[in-house]
Amino acid sequence: MSIKCDKCKHDSIIYQRYSGMHLCKKHFMEDVERKIKLTIRKHYSVRKNETIAVAVSGGKDSSVMLYMLHKILGARPDIRLIALSVDEGIAGYRHNTLEQAKGLTSRLGVEHIILSFREQYERTMDEIASLEREKGTCSYCGVLRKSILNRKALELGATKLAIGHNLDDEAQTIMMNHLKGDVARMVRLVPPCELEGLVLRIKPLRYIPEKEVAMYAYLNGLPLSTGACPYAHEAMRNEVREMLDDFEDKHPGTKYSLLSGFDKIANVLSREIPIAKLASCRLCGQACSSELCQACKLLGKQ
Ligand SMILES: [Zn+2]
Ligand SMILES: [Zn+2]
Repeated sequence: MSIKCDKCKHDSIIYQRYSGMHLCKKHFMEDVERKIKLTIRKHYSVRKNETIAVAVSGGKDSSVMLYMLHKILGARPDIRLIALSVDEGIAGYRHNTLEQAKGLTSRLGVEHIILSFREQYERTMDEIASLEREKGTCSYCGVLRKSILNRKALELGATKLAIGHNLDDEAQTIMMNHLKGDVARMVRLVPPCELEGLVLRIKPLRYIPEKEVAMYAYLNGLPLSTGACPYAHEAMRNEVREMLDDFEDKHPGTKYSLLSGFDKIANVLSREIPIAKLASCRLCGQACSSELCQACKLLGKQ
């Protein structure tokens, strides 16, 4: 006999251990959508006449995010959604996800802009990865991607930049900052963190577990790839991921409590520790905390 949904008579498709609920397709989708709407309302209220840039890699997280933002805001004539994808120039990796991003934006009828490292920085990620350097490839890629997205979002007059981080990503980041004792970075994780010169980053999926994002993507015919980059081997994040997955398995709800506990502490924290005012980069003008921005530093400009 099949297991039934706790909210209706249909067959259950998923068991949420942290809530103790068996849910059918309809009620599972409703649950995900409700959480995303609540996150937006609670942390990042959308006002009239906003332009929202959405970072879309073509992997499952950003695809679900774009699909949902379009579902929630697409009917509002005063809201402009623009998908931004970044082609880092990683052979054999980005092409497929970019095609998926193109497919999705045209399916939804959302404006889509593809930015490239080659155009912006005159070199591809493959070229950067092959050079001698102090930092790992991921930190380069992350910094350069952030910078290019922020620059374009500003240029477009966007008031928000949506990033597809899910609950697992957020819980890992919080735990890593705890382990490193990086309080300044923790303050910047508190939503909404408004900094002059930086478009407000919003994370509508921060309360959705990665597995549920994948399930939602599957049920709605959205791209399923994780978008995992061939250079991705941030050692500490992998260890923290394993640790949190193990904890979640033994104590369902751990990731949720880590995030919601952090949000409570963070509110107090942000009052105690004011966020440093930003300067602008001497070379490119991007908002940053010292004379040169991270992107210019990493690219060895002086
Ligand atoms: Zn149901
Ligand atoms: Zn710069």
